[in-house]
Amino acid sequence: MKRHVRALVIGGGVVGCSVLYHLSKLGWRDVALVERKELTAGSSWHAAGAFHALNSDPAMSRLQAYTVALYPELQKISGQDIGLHYPGGLNVAATKERWDLLRADVARHQTMGLDTRLVGPAEIRELCPIMETRGVLGAIYDPQEGHLDPAGATHAFASAARRNGAEIYRHTRVTALRPTGRGTWEVSTDGDTIEAEHVVNAAGLWAREVGRMVGIDLPLLPMEHHYLITEDLAELAGASRELPVVVDLDGEMYMRQERRGVLLGVYETPATPWAVGGTPWEYGDNELLPPDLDRLTAALEKGFTRFPVLHSTGIRKVVNGPFTFTPDGNPLVGPVPGVRNYWAACGVMAGFCQGGGVGLALATWMIHGEPDGETLALDVARFGDYASKAYVLDKAREFYSRRFRIAYPNEYWPAGRPSRTSALHGRLVARNAVHGVSYGLEYPLFFAPAGRPAEEEPTLRRSGAFGPVGAECRTARSHGGILDASSFSRFEIEGPAAESYLDRLLAGKLPGVGRVRLTPMLAPSGRLMGDLTTMRLGAERFLIFGSGYLQAWHMRWFRQHLPASGATVRNLSIDWGGIAIFGPRSRELLAHVADDDVSAAAFPFMTARFMDVGLAPALVARMSVTGELGYEIHAPQVYLAPIYDRLAAAASGLGIIDVGMYALLSLRIEKGFGIWTREFSRDYTPVESGLSRFVAYDKRDFIGRDAALRDRERPPDRRLVLLEVEALDAEANYLEPVWSGEERVGFVTSAAYGHTCGRSLALAYVANSSAAAAAELEVTIVGERRACRILGAPPVDPAGAAMRS
Ligand SMILES: Cc1cc2nc3c(=O)[nH]c(=O)nc-3n(C[C@H](O)[C@H](O)[C@H](O)COP(=O)(O)OP(=O)(O)OC[C@H]3O[C@@H](n4cnc5c(N)ncnc54)[C@H](O)[C@@H]3O)c2cc1C
Repeated sequence: MKRHVRALVIGGGVVGCSVLYHLSKLGWRDVALVERKELTAGSSWHAAGAFHALNSDPAMSRLQAYTVALYPELQKISGQDIGLHYPGGLNVAATKERWDLLRADVARHQTMGLDTRLVGPAEIRELCPIMETRGVLGAIYDPQEGHLDPAGATHAFASAARRNGAEIYRHTRVTALRPTGRGTWEVSTDGDTIEAEHVVNAAGLWAREVGRMVGIDLPLLPMEHHYLITEDLAELAGASRELPVVVDLDGEMYMRQERRGVLLGVYETPATPWAVGGTPWEYGDNELLPPDLDRLTAALEKGFTRFPVLHSTGIRKVVNGPFTFTPDGNPLVGPVPGVRNYWAACGVMAGFCQGGGVGLALATWMIHGEPDGETLALDVARFGDYASKAYVLDKAREFYSRRFRIAYPNEYWPAGRPSRTSALHGRLVARNAVHGVSYGLEYPLFFAPAGRPAEEEPTLRRSGAFGPVGAECRTARSHGGILDASSFSRFEIEGPAAESYLDRLLAGKLPGVGRVRLTPMLAPSGRLMGDLTTMRLGAERFLIFGSGYLQAWHMRWFRQHLPASGATVRNLSIDWGGIAIFGPRSRELLAHVADDDVSAAAFPFMTARFMDVGLAPALVARMSVTGELGYEIHAPQVYLAPIYDRLAAAASGLGIIDVGMYALLSLRIEKGFGIWTREFSRDYTPVESGLSRFVAYDKRDFIGRDAALRDRERPPDRRLVLLEVEALDAEANYLEPVWSGEERVGFVTSAAYGHTCGRSLALAYVANSSAAAAAELEVTIVGERRACRILGAPPVDPAGAAMRS
């Protein structure tokens, strides 16, 4: 065993072996992997081996498509047969809602670059003659789906890595990790000790234990999962083509051919967590859990109804094995916040769909300092302290049980709620607020009319919220609105080096004392890292505001670039909250409750200062994402309710009402304002996203400057535009394609009905060649093409007079 390596991967499952292979492929030769038993000894050896690229998140789908496409190459490089089969796959719909969703999905797949198509029952029967298609409305057919030999694929990654010089030490268990004080890790094993510059936790079922070695609790949990393999079926004898991999979404099961029989797997309800307190080190030398077929009876009945031939065949094998789930089902990848040179590659629920992509993403990140494109969906920093063990237990159970359920874009699942509430939560619930959740925090979506239940039906089309949200928007623009804005993040940066630190960190110009500026932040690649708002409270004191769910992600970045001394960064997001007030009468409202002169002259646009609001000290900034005259009132959570009570008491006399985030979404789209994840992300540059106007290209130095200057010189291939859509009963949705004739020229990022302009609107990235105002375009909405046109200016207050008034 080597004494020192550049990177040590802990865990020889499919994910660890893929990380090792990709590190060695991208140029790090001095890398090794340790495995406590034999390779595949965790979840990997007993997987069903099915793979596909379909995923509702574009980053996950990109990663899966890479994994699927890698297999033939991997087979060639490693010289190892991995039992590759590409029979294609069917995702079957047996309800009207599901069929609608599949039609919408297939359009989004085009945006994601996936080659799928819809097929009807007749073609389904042809592709899968053993399927009962009564009640089936259709399916998505994906020609790239298939299955492989899981042990073969894991070993293939391992031998490809070895060919590149990587080393693998089997029967070597990591027992402790200690920082050496030189920026490296001393890794104790049950054999020798090894020093590693970087450590990767790819310990699968034991990832929690390897996390605890450095004092962290990773949000993942193993769940039991069954599949069964039948005896040979007479119906498959002599068949000229293999059955496709079938996912019966409404039956919540999957099926694929296994030699001349079939393999049937089910996601039963309720789900059964395994080893909740910790995974025993003794478990897992090609070990399985005892099967519990009674638990599966209801699910299997559905399977036997969909595939009636199963009634007349025997079961050859039943597998019950554990594999890990995170609260949202996506992996945990990337640098673990607060633990230097300790990387996560765990929580991978579908290692044979995702393992290759996880390996590439992590290796790129470790070697080049940032991953390629947007990866928040799989980033270990997307969770925070709120993801307690009890939360993870609730959410992982829920995710497993709902694995194939329809997830509507307006749906917030109930498990693990509420885990965080703002100080206003109880008051807003009393006012009939319907809440959504982000980063564990409950936030108001809209206010249901008095006497009606505080709920929204999940749907792809306009929901019952349409009417109430319309009223909120119209009142906000005619009088005013009050919004619990606690879901934003807040960071305080202080010290003599605060200015020089932020000047380098942020791509925008820093504001003067008492002023506020929009300040994009870039990665070295010139891609966006944040659309932040920066406020300067003193010569050496700044506050930065961003999206609440990015707080751990941003803190990791802030800390990574923090100088050794002279500046500190504090995350105030949990302790502080905010209330936004906006609309033409918001100044009157503030004047009622504040002890300061808030007249237009005394309190101009994009300035901020401390003042008492009601009984409480607060920081008030004059700005609003609604495009109205407006103010953001920031204060510690303990002051929020008293501030709100004063505001609410004064608001009723001014015709100002409570509004929720749906109204904010509609109001900001009427102004053409983008937000993070949708219009802005690591997939975009300042020029194409329109944020270049906030980039101070003339600053001497900032992260991403060279790339940003190059980006500015090239005309962008696409740009962000505002569309008016001839919608019927549904607005466009994230990633639905935009068409010019038969050419796909763009995709929607966000959409809403503009209640005060009376038009359905969407923000979209559209190819430059089609981005002229006169272009005749269409957008697909729930599978139907609708005409749309590019608006040359926002339909509401294009000159921005209201917010400056
Ligand atoms: C029944 C079943 C069916 C499945 N079907 C599919 C499918 O069809 N398609 C699909 O994509 N996925 C499927 N999966 C999921 C898939 O098996 C997992 O996603 C995948 O195996 C995870 O791989 P991993 O490398 O992250 O973890 P693991 O396979 O658990 O590997 C982790 C490795 O780390 C080692 N290790 C742990 N701690 C230490 C330590 N301290 N020192 C040294 N080594 C250590 C372990 O021994 C183990 O070998 C299925 C899972 C089950 C249970």
